[in-house]
Amino acid sequence: MSCPPLFVIQPSPGKGNGVFARRDTSAGTLIFSEPALLTLDASLPARQACRSLAACFARLPAEDQDKIRSLHCPVDTVRSRRIMLELAHSDNGDDDESGTTQAGDDPGTNAGSSTHSGAGFPASKRRKRTVSASSGTSSANSRAAVPPQQQQPLTEADIAIYLAATSNGIAFLGAADGKTYTGLFPSVAARMNHTCEPNVVFAVDHNGVYHLRARRDLQAGEELLVSYLPRFMAWEARRRTLGECHGFVCGCARCVEGASRGVAGGGSAGDRGRGPAPGFVPASQIHPTFEVLEHQRASMAGIDLAELHAWIRELKSREWNLRKKNWGQEPAELFGLAYAIAEAHCGMGLVLRRPSEVESAIAYHELAARVGAKYWSETDVFVREQRGCVMALKVELRKFSGK
Ligand SMILES: [Zn+2]
Repeated sequence: MSCPPLFVIQPSPGKGNGVFARRDTSAGTLIFSEPALLTLDASLPARQACRSLAACFARLPAEDQDKIRSLHCPVDTVRSRRIMLELAHSDNGDDDESGTTQAGDDPGTNAGSSTHSGAGFPASKRRKRTVSASSGTSSANSRAAVPPQQQQPLTEADIAIYLAATSNGIAFLGAADGKTYTGLFPSVAARMNHTCEPNVVFAVDHNGVYHLRARRDLQAGEELLVSYLPRFMAWEARRRTLGECHGFVCGCARCVEGASRGVAGGGSAGDRGRGPAPGFVPASQIHPTFEVLEHQRASMAGIDLAELHAWIRELKSREWNLRKKNWGQEPAELFGLAYAIAEAHCGMGLVLRRPSEVESAIAYHELAARVGAKYWSETDVFVREQRGCVMALKVELRKFSGK
């Protein structure tokens, strides 16, 4: 963590603690990096994951245990109830490989990008400081491997820790094997509150380190807010996911507007009731794939199409500024836009099985990587993250075409 830190943790009205800017900070600034305290294999069945996590937790220093115990843990959400049901179900049959627990019900989750997941759990490697929960079958590099502890019953404390981890963990793609892991970052990252209009952007790199950057200029005292969800999820999908997984209703301006539209008009989720903004560029001129994209299908993927179009317009205007060499803060913003648009295309492509959307996602991720490389460096975590997405999406494309 940088010293002196650019942030401070303090109470946020109505939300427990939050993370705040300690001083004025310009767009693109790296605010902090935090290695995962625990790294967990997202593919393990719930019960096995819970047990492995408990074993790792027991080996942590008391100070780190306290950090995890103090994490917000909503027990009355749909997700928490489902996890407890799963744990109860497999009460005697231990750790069979059936029932792969994928609790990740965030629609639009894209390959390779870090999201606040509700994924299942434990196992893994690397990170010197990281304690890794492991399925007893892992390979040589898991020196922290936990011996299988089959027959011990799970205690209430084990389950509480597991729920805290599932609520606060963040998914990322492992470098060596391309598998999905979940990192737990209890010091700072897990204290970040949510908004659907984030002023900071985060990514977890392939080694399980969380990095947070300013999306725009920040003022001292401003709360730093991330989005737990993909940016272009429509209001209805956001409301449902936040309620089911995190147990709260978001009160940001986007949600207030979404709620008023939702109450006023019928119809399905998506850009209901909102006509094209003034100066709206027809979708077909922005990107040929939109020509054939019906709003209904977008809403199936939980995408707010009007929101997406507005952002693409903004991206185009900023690209024009770039060409005119009006740099300023453009690269950081442009990166954020390209990334968000890539994420939306990705959601539509993977959910709707649309190769053309996946191709668009690849193009925008490539743009984000180019901009990022220009602004930060070739080795920046965000640049590598974008390239990782491009690689993962190309694999998906090959699957679509059956090769
Ligand atoms: Zn919101």
